[in-house]
Amino acid sequence: MATNWETTPIRPKLLINGELVEASDGKTFQVYNPATREVSSEVPEATVDDTNRAVAAAKAAFPAWSALGPAKRAVYLKKLAALIREHKDELARLDAITMGMPVSSHHFAESAATQFGYYAEAWPHIQGQASVNTPGHVTFTLRQPYGVVALIIPWNVPVHFLATKSAPALITGNTVVLKSSEKAPLAVARIAELVQEAGFPPGVFNIISGHGVPSGQVLSRHNDVRALSFTGSSRTGKLIQEEAARTNLKKVILELGGKSPAIVFDDADLDNAVKKTQFSIQYNSGQVCMANSRIYVHKSVAQGFVDAFKKHYTAVAKAGNPLERDTNQGPQADEVQYNQVMRYIDEGKKSGGELVLGGSGKLESTNGFFVEPTVFINTPEEAKIMKEEIFGPVVNINVFETEEEAVKKANDTEFGLYASVFTKDISRAMRVAKALESGYVGINTSSPSTAHDLPFGGYKGSGQGREGVLYSMNNFLEIKSVIMQIDE
Ligand code: NAD
Repeated sequence: MATNWETTPIRPKLLINGELVEASDGKTFQVYNPATREVSSEVPEATVDDTNRAVAAAKAAFPAWSALGPAKRAVYLKKLAALIREHKDELARLDAITMGMPVSSHHFAESAATQFGYYAEAWPHIQGQASVNTPGHVTFTLRQPYGVVALIIPWNVPVHFLATKSAPALITGNTVVLKSSEKAPLAVARIAELVQEAGFPPGVFNIISGHGVPSGQVLSRHNDVRALSFTGSSRTGKLIQEEAARTNLKKVILELGGKSPAIVFDDADLDNAVKKTQFSIQYNSGQVCMANSRIYVHKSVAQGFVDAFKKHYTAVAKAGNPLERDTNQGPQADEVQYNQVMRYIDEGKKSGGELVLGGSGKLESTNGFFVEPTVFINTPEEAKIMKEEIFGPVVNINVFETEEEAVKKANDTEFGLYASVFTKDISRAMRVAKALESGYVGINTSSPSTAHDLPFGGYKGSGQGREGVLYSMNNFLEIKSVIMQIDE
């Protein structure tokens, strides 16, 4: 049954210097509901000028905001947390009608509110160190904000990334310009209204919408932006890194793509392994950086695993209108994503692997961009669909015979975001966890299972730097060493 908050209109604006404004040239772009292809809203496209004004506003606001002290800054974060929590159903709906995430799995407004709450309390950890190890001197370090910080976020979990990046940047005394993704700007634009309602001083928290070019590019190049945190594709991450290197060498934190492996040994609880790995690839229609898109199963249990995996996926996946409470598989975010996934499925069919489930982009009685849950087995390791990020509900299940072979195959990728191992042998679990080239390892669980107090980030091409409650504050703090002579 349709929910009653589904008709709230939104006319997004840019939040620059505390004011909600149109783009200076009046230009907008349209966003579509990927379940129906109907227009959801017209969104302002921030111009070069608008982006520069947002950075200038953040620069002007920085001295007072950084001098305020974290306890007073925390008051604004707490107000915003309460407003986000109050509007969580509306934010879920806005994500559903732009990038198709089912409202049933949208817990991100609640978790965003929790993040703002955490950082509002975590500020006593903003500390340096002191020592008397240098004779005749006291030495210490100071942790200080960078100044203007740019945050560029993707479309797949917009509210989450807004919170996990802006809360630590703000509590540590930086001022912010955040750019939403052109594919999912509505929930973020609603939060811009809530930022204004929370009463943040003008210029402290600016939020703009638009495409990578011009606004994202302007932020990457801007000499007044001193740190930039980005989550998105590896391709864009490299472009941002290049712009930073060409201009002011701003600090860059990158959370990029993945091609996560899961290894299932013959002694594993197969029922658990099936459920965890299936959920990992189904969640958010496979549009998750850490989704286990490659599963390696010991040859002796492979047939049983594949049969159970297909049966479970078919039984639990309920595709449909993301606004319906019982839908758990939405469409792909837009036509571009849909076409990309379908291209990879075609590649898979030609690669020598065997298609054992799905493989079609059609779903009865809908005009949306839905992709069937799709399973390939025995795909050659060098095939494109084994190497590149698909970002859809498409999984490859291959076999192995020895532990060494499994680890070698799992690590044979340019990515390294999340990996999992399923076994009841504790020594093997630890050996494999140690050997996996990955920023995160799940033992008897898989992504999106993560813990709030662990750092998150990638090995190899999956990024640089780590995010997480305490780690993210460090990302936005410079370290200054001070040496003071106390004896002649
Ligand atoms: P994307 O790189 O296309 O876009 C991300 C953001 O970058 C958007 O806001 C976009 O407008 C902006 N952008 C595009 N071109 C730019 C440019 N030249 N300069 C500056 N900004 C530019 O990524 P996406 O399609 O939105 O997101 C999907 C990708 O994100 C996947 O690869 C996924 O794995 C990755 N991701 C990673 C994590 C992680 O934590 N590691 C989490 C979620 C998503």
